[in-house]
Amino acid sequence: MLYGIISDIHSNLEALESALAELDDAAVDEIICLGDIVGYGANPNECVEIIRERGIRSIAGNHDAVASGMEEPDYFNHIARLSILWTRTVLTKEHKEFLRALPRSIDNGGFLVVHGALTHADNYITGIEIAKDEYEHMEGAEVCFFGHTHLGVCFEKDADGIRMLGGERIVLKEGAQYLINPGSVGQPRDRDPRAAFIVYDDSAREVRCRRVEYDIPAAQKKIKDSGLSDALAMRLAIGV
Ligand code: ZN
Repeated sequence: MLYGIISDIHSNLEALESALAELDDAAVDEIICLGDIVGYGANPNECVEIIRERGIRSIAGNHDAVASGMEEPDYFNHIARLSILWTRTVLTKEHKEFLRALPRSIDNGGFLVVHGALTHADNYITGIEIAKDEYEHMEGAEVCFFGHTHLGVCFEKDADGIRMLGGERIVLKEGAQYLINPGSVGQPRDRDPRAAFIVYDDSAREVRCRRVEYDIPAAQKKIKDSGLSDALAMRLAIGV
C-alpha cells in the first residue's frame, strides 16, 4: 500500500489543498492525518470539511481537542489560546462533533499513529533522549508516525542504538524500529515554508519526504482579515 501521511494542517486551506493535489498525483491508496486539523489558521471549517468529504482517517491533536471542547487550552501560549478560542466560535456544531469523535491514536497493524508521542498525546519528541522513552512503548510495532513538533524527522533504532536519519528518501531496514514525523502541512517550523508530508510505501519499505509550495499570501490575508494575530500570518512566510 502507498500511504500519504499528513499532520498539523492547522486550518491552512491553501496548504492542505496543495498537499492533497501532490498526493493525488502520487496516486496514494490512503491518506492518514496525525491530528491538529484546526487551530492557528483562518479556515477550520473548510479543512474539516475536506477531511470528512475525502474520508481521510484522522486522529485528534491537542488543538482539535480544545477546539471541540474536549479540553481547555490550559497549556497553550497566548497566541495559540486566542486562535483556538476563535476557532471554537466559528467551527460548526457538526464539525465539533466530528472532531470529538476522532480517536487519539490508531494501531494500523503495520504501524502506529499518534499526535505527539506514545507516552502522551501532548508530549514532544524532539531528540534521541526523548525518543528512547518512546521506543519503550512501541512494543512490537515497526513504525510509529507522530506529529505535533511541526518538524520532519526520522529516528531509527536497531541493536546498535538510536540515530536520526536525514534525506529525502529513507529505506526501512529489517529488524529496526522507526519513529517518523512527516513535518507540518499548514505551519512548518524548519525554516522551509513549503507544506511538508510524506509518502510511505509499506511494500517497498520506503519513506519519501515531500515538500510543496502553496499560496502563502492568500493564507496570510485570510488570517489578518479574520482578526487573528499578525504573527500567525508572518510565520508562514518564513517557516517558523
Ligand atoms: Zn500542531
